[in-house]
Amino acid sequence: MADRLKTVLLFGAPGAGKGTQGSLLGSIPGYFHMSTGDMFRSLDKESELGQIFFEYSSKGELVPDEVTLELWHTYVHAQAILGMYKPYSDLLILDGIPRTVAQTTLMEQYINVLGVVHLSAVNPDDMIARLQNRALEQNRVDDAKEDIIRNRLEIYERETRPVLNHYDQSIVHEIDAIGTLGGVLSNILKVVAPIQDTCHTKPAEV
Ligand code: ADP
Repeated sequence: MADRLKTVLLFGAPGAGKGTQGSLLGSIPGYFHMSTGDMFRSLDKESELGQIFFEYSSKGELVPDEVTLELWHTYVHAQAILGMYKPYSDLLILDGIPRTVAQTTLMEQYINVLGVVHLSAVNPDDMIARLQNRALEQNRVDDAKEDIIRNRLEIYERETRPVLNHYDQSIVHEIDAIGTLGGVLSNILKVVAPIQDTCHTKPAEV
């Protein structure tokens, strides 16, 4: 990789609305939204990787770092080859990765994190309610049961939140996750639009 990929991280606990905001952002030209939750769910359930994913996600646990990183890299590379993601001009919006400090370190060779959007201030009961509603709507096994959700929230606090400390606090932006879709999106855009403006300069290769 000649140049590291220009990246913004969408960060927040399960149920904070990263996926929804990420897809809205991804519908705007110049942003490429990549969710590792979606990536894993798109795997063939009969495949070896699909089985590994099911084994962990059904308990609310994280897939091991090496497997996750390898799949993530292959996925981003494939999207670039297919022309869906244009590393030269697009800002990469990562949703769901890095999710551990080890992933953060492993990814440093590939991504240049220019901003971190932290969707915060959601209380656990709101998040549990959101996740349970979504589980019913989308038939998601990992979000249906309260004890599994609580496990995901605990893992978030223990494994994922420390990732925030890895970055210079000047690039970490706290955004209130409670509000209308448009209101939250508008606050996210205030952070990412100026970053995206700087993305047309230097080419990058995956
Ligand atoms: P969503 O937020 O869309 O529900 P998640 O991002 O929570 O989806 O991902 C669903 C599951 O996929 C997680 O519980 C975990 O098992 C796995 N997963 C997603 N991203 C990662 C990651 N970066 N590292 C390890 N496991 C991951």
